[in-house]
Amino acid sequence: MSHFTSSFAVQFAPVRVRFGAGIRAQVSEEIARLGRKRALVLSTPPQADAAMQMAQDIGDLAVGVFTRAAMHTPVAVTEEAVAHVLSVRADCLVAIGGGSTTGLGKAIALRTDLPQIVVPTTYAGSEATNILGQTENGVKTTLTDARVQPEVILYDAELVKTLPVGMTVTSALNAMAHAVEGLYARDRNPLSTLLAIEGLEAFAEALEKVVASPADLEARGRTLYGAWLCGTVLGQVGMALHHKLCHTLGGSFDLPHAETHAVILPHAIAFNARAASRELEPVVRIFGGPEPGIALYDFARRVGAPLALREFGLREEDLDKAAEIATSKPYWNPQKVTKQDIATLLAAAWRGDPPAF
Ligand code: NAD
Repeated sequence: MSHFTSSFAVQFAPVRVRFGAGIRAQVSEEIARLGRKRALVLSTPPQADAAMQMAQDIGDLAVGVFTRAAMHTPVAVTEEAVAHVLSVRADCLVAIGGGSTTGLGKAIALRTDLPQIVVPTTYAGSEATNILGQTENGVKTTLTDARVQPEVILYDAELVKTLPVGMTVTSALNAMAHAVEGLYARDRNPLSTLLAIEGLEAFAEALEKVVASPADLEARGRTLYGAWLCGTVLGQVGMALHHKLCHTLGGSFDLPHAETHAVILPHAIAFNARAASRELEPVVRIFGGPEPGIALYDFARRVGAPLALREFGLREEDLDKAAEIATSKPYWNPQKVTKQDIATLLAAAWRGDPPAF
């Protein structure tokens, strides 16, 4: 079925994307291609060894390593990193890691306009967007700016192979959430819909294989392909209720990013399916089920995803406040959002029940 609509707009950023097991060995070539000579390698503390190895592999083209990237891109860390960039006179960035490391690279690029080469090790998809979330004084703000869009992405299945199975599953559902919300986005276009469907199919085909055999490079490569497609959808179109709820739960209750996405997805989609069942039809076709929320809930259960928010320290008495915050500012959503409905949705997600809608 064609996804043509009689009127739409599409914008693609000029990004170079390469796939392949072992492709990280091409980072030097990519630095040279950008006309750069002094790369600063970025990572989180747990991935410092991977960053050191990358710097060693790059050899003379590496001028240092900064390994203090942290979740939600704290501005204080970015300022330290920018000082480091200036002190070593770096002329490009190599980010190896998940969304936290990519976020640091983007935050530095926003302030310095340095080009970024990203080597993703999760499925978060941040590398494919011009969006940056930053945290200062406990408040997370999100901006969109062409300077934060990474110039080069190298997807290496060998790197994502080390992602523990639990994180693999939650990170994959985080990626899938971009595509599922992209299907009903108000500003969707035929290409974003195609990308979303192809991305969801990649996860539907490969995620269970990865869970069964985490070192299966073909399946890992396919899930990375899904991550790229889903991340590209996130960069193309606006998100709605699902992302809003996860942002609230992460920002105000300090819930972990990917896990929160994994738990909320079936509930938010079941809620929105009442207004967007036609747009969500690919979800039912790809994952099987009577309706999209149940299809995603069953898929999440099959791959061993966490199902209950209470597993992450959220207290039952916080649900009302969460519903209040999540509905305090109006935003576009296919289904009308009320505090009462969101409280019902969150209560089911807190208990780990199937979607309430
Ligand atoms: P993350 O980058 O924080 O990674 C989680 C942990 O896993 C870290 O300790 C990391 O070092 C470790 N890790 C990563 N890859 C690994 C691997 N292959 N093997 C072993 N350990 C590994 O988590 P994430 O879910 O990738 O990213 C979350 C962050 O990204 C959030 O801050 C979120 O807001 C942001 N994000 C931004 C966008 C955007 O477009 N701006 C999109 C998605 C996510």
